Amino acid sequence: MNSTDDLGAEGLSPEELELLTYLLEEEGIAVAANARVVPRAAREEYPLSFSQQRMWFVDQWEPGSAAYNIPNALRVRGKLDVAVLERSLAEILRRHESLRATFPEVNGRPVQVIQPELTPLITWADISHMAPAAIEDEAIRLITADAARPFDLAAGPLWRAQVIRLGPEEHIFLLTIHHIVFDGWSMGVLIGEMAQIYEAFAQGRPSPLAEPALQYADFAAWQREWLQGEVLTEQLDYWRQQLEGVPVLQLPLDHPRPSVYKSRGSALTVEYPKQLGEQLSALSQREGATLFMTLLAAFKLLLARYSGQDDIVVGSPIANRDQPEIEELIGYFVNTLVLRTSLEGNPTFRDLLGRVRDVTLGAYAHQNIPFEQLVQVLRPDRDMSYSPMFQVMFILQNAPGGDEQVQGLTLSVVEIDNQTAKFDLTVAVSELPHALCVRVEYNTELFEEATVRRMAAHFQALLEAIAADPGRTLGEYSFLTPAERTLVLDQWSQGESVTVVDDCVHRLFAAQAARTPDACAVTVGATGESLTYGELDRRSNQLAHYLRRQGVGPDTLVGVSMERSLDLLVGVLSVLKAGGAYVPLDPTYPAERLQLIVNDARPTVLLTQERLQSVLDFGIPTVCIDAQWPVINQEPAGPVNIAVTGDHLAYVIYTSGSTGKPKGVMIRHAGLATYAQWACQAYSISAADRVLQFASISFDASAEEIYPCLIRGGQLVLRSDEMIESPDRFLRLVDQVGITILDLPTAYWHELTAALAAGGLAVPESVRLVIIGGERALPDRVAAWRDHARPDVRLVNTYGPTETTIVATMGQLAGPGANLPVDTEVSIGRPVGGAQVYILDGNMEPVPPGVPGELYIGGSGLARGYLHRPDLTVERFVSHLWSDAPGARLYRTGDLVRYLPDGNIQFLGRVDDQVKIRGFRIELGEIETTLHHHPGVLEAAVLAREDVAGDRKLVAYVVPK
Ligand code: AMP
Ligand code: MG
Repeated sequence: MNSTDDLGAEGLSPEELELLTYLLEEEGIAVAANARVVPRAAREEYPLSFSQQRMWFVDQWEPGSAAYNIPNALRVRGKLDVAVLERSLAEILRRHESLRATFPEVNGRPVQVIQPELTPLITWADISHMAPAAIEDEAIRLITADAARPFDLAAGPLWRAQVIRLGPEEHIFLLTIHHIVFDGWSMGVLIGEMAQIYEAFAQGRPSPLAEPALQYADFAAWQREWLQGEVLTEQLDYWRQQLEGVPVLQLPLDHPRPSVYKSRGSALTVEYPKQLGEQLSALSQREGATLFMTLLAAFKLLLARYSGQDDIVVGSPIANRDQPEIEELIGYFVNTLVLRTSLEGNPTFRDLLGRVRDVTLGAYAHQNIPFEQLVQVLRPDRDMSYSPMFQVMFILQNAPGGDEQVQGLTLSVVEIDNQTAKFDLTVAVSELPHALCVRVEYNTELFEEATVRRMAAHFQALLEAIAADPGRTLGEYSFLTPAERTLVLDQWSQGESVTVVDDCVHRLFAAQAARTPDACAVTVGATGESLTYGELDRRSNQLAHYLRRQGVGPDTLVGVSMERSLDLLVGVLSVLKAGGAYVPLDPTYPAERLQLIVNDARPTVLLTQERLQSVLDFGIPTVCIDAQWPVINQEPAGPVNIAVTGDHLAYVIYTSGSTGKPKGVMIRHAGLATYAQWACQAYSISAADRVLQFASISFDASAEEIYPCLIRGGQLVLRSDEMIESPDRFLRLVDQVGITILDLPTAYWHELTAALAAGGLAVPESVRLVIIGGERALPDRVAAWRDHARPDVRLVNTYGPTETTIVATMGQLAGPGANLPVDTEVSIGRPVGGAQVYILDGNMEPVPPGVPGELYIGGSGLARGYLHRPDLTVERFVSHLWSDAPGARLYRTGDLVRYLPDGNIQFLGRVDDQVKIRGFRIELGEIETTLHHHPGVLEAAVLAREDVAGDRKLVAYVVPK
């Protein structure tokens, strides 16, 4: 059986058919009284049915396309009498006008002409001489080749017959027929009639079959007459109202969607236990629904979970043969119903089933309008990257008959994977005697087989949960398999453990300074001014003593507002050494914003420089590190003796997130020290490294640059503003200074990579590692980097909210050992040392690999909370469900992510953006947050960046309309 979407069976057993009729009556849905096809008066030409006409147009657009060829292959075991076969086929052609139809064009319009006679021509291919191992492959090749040969609709014939001889007692009988005269149901008719006729002819009897009462052309003529005026209006109105504003289903994909839909596909089949099928049938009966409805409702729930959408549209074929005389015909009757259901409001499954039942019954009552016509009327212009109206097809199929015995022959259907997919997914369920069989045809441009296989397993898990209790609300159904649960909760969630030498980075720094007092600790890139480890340690000790006397101690906040300078490094280290926590106040930030932070944090002291003092007037005690140095210099040079523990605060950084006013994130020493020690290992930082200090002290990326370097004896190089005037200049200075590690905001790295790709520039020899992070990395830039950067440079993508201390996940994108796929989105890797990650749904249940959920982060890096915001702290730092540690929390990031099959995490966007939005309003403002994630948003963002070129302070806010 080839393209399952054409099977046209609603898959109803007689009992179900009876139930359906009853349900339709109960709903007051009467099938139109005049909806009966009668034989037409004889003529030479007939109209095409609506479906045939659409297909004819499709053929005009794509002449030579074989997309609508339907290959039917029967394996015949036993002594085949080819002469009898040929006579039987002739009899079939005689009985069914449709197989003699041609569609020539007359005055610009197609007409249907029935040829009075057609001689059956069966071609013959003998491959029995081939090596046994090669025979099956060759047979498939012949079938596929035949299926790929186009038909000429005007000239006909629209079928081809072939017998492939595999051996003396084994043949394949292949009939390839164009869809314009055939459908899935027709295949059953054809095989059934062939069997009876062959048997009769083989025994010398005439055909036992009665003449068909109708022909397809009767149906076409009737449809043209009937489906107009009021009937047409009524049907159209129904669909117009049903399908108003249908959304596009956005399943998470493995590969980027081509801009024009390509129908390359493949299929796989899985079996669910027979018992599950029985339970679902029983459930359907209890709920006054059909099995189709129950399966469809569950399938819609699965799609809702995968897409995050709650308005789910699925297509389903309907045989469209509601008259007994029509059931016996060969021809193109099958129609497609568009079944749209809202899953809004977290109803119970039972309620959802009710919704699906109503929608299905409504669709049955309005099934006469051909789908193609609906598309034409309701969606004249559309996005060519999707199939129109719906992207996923669902079918409950009649069970394919098993082997059939005819006149000493055994017939069985040959499964043909015709390697096409008319939709993103087509799921066909059939009830086999031993199992519930699920065949999924999928578009290989979009999905990997493993993804589809997982999805099929999730469908089973969901069906089992539903069969066990249909009364739960949709949110309560989990479809994680037990194996996946172990994988995501116990394995992928855990970053490696880190040996923590000390809980405080300033002590680790002091220890390093004692080891290498004369080594250079920090240099100003532009001027070459520098401090040795010994000098930096001594000065920060002195300032720490001084701060102690200003009242600084554990958990005291100290504002630090200084330009990027040697003093700044002395300043932050001294705050830590005094036991306090620093609150960065970047002097280049707008005064109002700094004032907001000061008002909220109420620091005990402000640490600044003389030239800034006049502009920064916050009315708090101020220490001018340069002006007051003669006094500070009187302080002892030895360490301050104060008990600081891992739970004390190291810094408070203000973030505003995407909304709301700035809030202070309280970072603990333990988190900072653990991260710094992990980073030293992960990035192999040593005394030989020169690390660029790029980020503003107001971003925690600065802490990533400073501490791992200074606790391992490396040299920190302070960036100047001129340095980033152009990529060319930047790279030259990096080269001159001999930087080994670049830690860059992803946005800046994007620019740099574009410049590298444009040519003429190269990554300096000294650079061995590039760390990016802060926002979504663009796949095309990663690809460009791989093409243009030295292959031995490691490029790592880091992800982390300020609330979890700098970095929570990391993955390598390029360089030796890079293992992250770059496809639809760039991966953000796995949890870093000491971190834990959980991807959860709205009910705090883990989601399986492949399915989007919200990222929650736990572990040693978790902030103590938001300063003076207990409400917000409780809201964002929730109880850790999988930790025994008392009071353990998880930070709720608001980021939408999913697991790739190998456990790496893919960043998808913000949870709030999950509802796809069509238009955007752009506002310009100060840099606050990065711009994510939806392709449309990125386009808008790029536009806006160009608008504000020249002023680096401005960036676009992209606000959904
Ligand atoms: P912040 O608190 O300023 O560090 O911002 C953290 C947010 O930036 C995260 O919650 C993400 O939304 C985004 N983000 C940070 N790093 C990345 C990354 N590598 N890829 C994608 N988004 C990122
Ligand atoms: Mg961050």
